[in-house]
Amino acid sequence: MTEFEAGRPVVLRGGTVLPMTDGHEVLSGVDVLVEGDRIAAVGPELAVPDGTIEIDATDGIVMPGMIDTHRHMWQTAMRGYGADWTLTQYFVWYYLEHGRLFRPEDVHAGNTLAAIEAIDAGVTTVVDWSHGLQTVDHADAAVDALRSVPGRFVLAYGNIQAPPAEWTAAPEFRDFVSRRITGDDMLGFQLAFDVVGDPAFPEKPAFEVARDLGVSVTTHAGVWGATSDEGIRQMYEHGFMTPGTVYVHAATLEPDSYHRIAATGGSISVSTESEQSAGQGYPPTWAIRLHGIPVSLSMDTSVWWSGDLFSAMRTTLGADRSRAHLEAHAKGDTVTHCALRADQVVEWATRGGARALGRDDLGSLEPGKKADLVLIKNDRSPVSFPLLNPYGHVAFQAQRGDVHTVVVNGRVVKHEHELVGVDLAAARRQVESTVEYLRSTMGEETWLKGMNPDIPETKILDNPYTYTDYRSSATRDR
Ligand SMILES: [Zn+2]
Repeated sequence: MTEFEAGRPVVLRGGTVLPMTDGHEVLSGVDVLVEGDRIAAVGPELAVPDGTIEIDATDGIVMPGMIDTHRHMWQTAMRGYGADWTLTQYFVWYYLEHGRLFRPEDVHAGNTLAAIEAIDAGVTTVVDWSHGLQTVDHADAAVDALRSVPGRFVLAYGNIQAPPAEWTAAPEFRDFVSRRITGDDMLGFQLAFDVVGDPAFPEKPAFEVARDLGVSVTTHAGVWGATSDEGIRQMYEHGFMTPGTVYVHAATLEPDSYHRIAATGGSISVSTESEQSAGQGYPPTWAIRLHGIPVSLSMDTSVWWSGDLFSAMRTTLGADRSRAHLEAHAKGDTVTHCALRADQVVEWATRGGARALGRDDLGSLEPGKKADLVLIKNDRSPVSFPLLNPYGHVAFQAQRGDVHTVVVNGRVVKHEHELVGVDLAAARRQVESTVEYLRSTMGEETWLKGMNPDIPETKILDNPYTYTDYRSSATRDR
């Protein structure tokens, strides 16, 4: 695909540009020029170098690439399998019963498909919350997959099959870090583990390893039935709460924990779709907004949901507003003005993620920033016009099929709704082989049972308006 070879300048002409700078302005009929891996200019009718790729962005929206700060990419190999799961069923399946079945090639399959899916949906940076790394071979496979797709990724290294103090102390883990984490900005690195609240604080050595390596920790915090305020207290008292720490969900915490997060400068990754269905706690933006804690968005896992952040923005607005109405109605009040606005969730999906990752050079369209951007435009869609409120359009009207062009690190990776230089057929074969292996190893009965959990009995309430003989009484009256 020489047409889109890396290094060739690109200009997107005449779009509605959401630069996601402080004022949340809307620039109409403006060009965005990319040179090398950077945004070179944003402005009307830009002069461009010879050989620049010209992309017509009229009737479209140009915005920064979206950033997902928490996605278990290995699980994409089982897309949709857990649609009817609760968090309990998820834990039983992956943590206790079948997660160990995943071989390195299965992690590779899931990661490859998840990475392709991300760039297709305009999600240019994903934190791979990779807690299926039972061995370093699994970790090598995860990185091989991420490196094979032209997106920007952060490997958040985890292993749910062993205590964090154990796997972070293994010499082969340290060896992996020095071999594979080379400091280039297409592949970042974090440690991913949870703090369970054991009074002995067994996670302490793992935090020390993170500090030693100079990397951030991402942790599922405030998850109903799993992690609580106690873990936050332990982290705080040992000085492990830092500005780079990303607290995932944080949906069942007391104000004291939110105060500690706010005071130490960390951020919260909200996975609204996940919290609503799985039960980690009510999606917390309505509470954490009151504490001034920075927010980023994430979709968690494709074993339930698809990996696009349009859904994340939409459900986050809905959940936040729903809670505001519910709280007001309980007091006999009416919400007359929405506090959470569409432009705010677009910021969380872009700059919020950049901030969480300590990446000032991502998340906005300004000269000098890294060129990760998305053109939302679909001339065949009746939902593409009128374009009156661009932020509202992104949050409530647009969807992944409207992602026309995606640029990552200055390189066009999707154009006119088609991925560029991505072997989707090979990814499909890998995933089919993983599904076949899991299914045959577990046995058909276990496989089907895992996908179709029992439905609890619902008792239909007695209804005072039903009468056994209302028809005959109606006939009599006539
Ligand atoms: Zn998660």
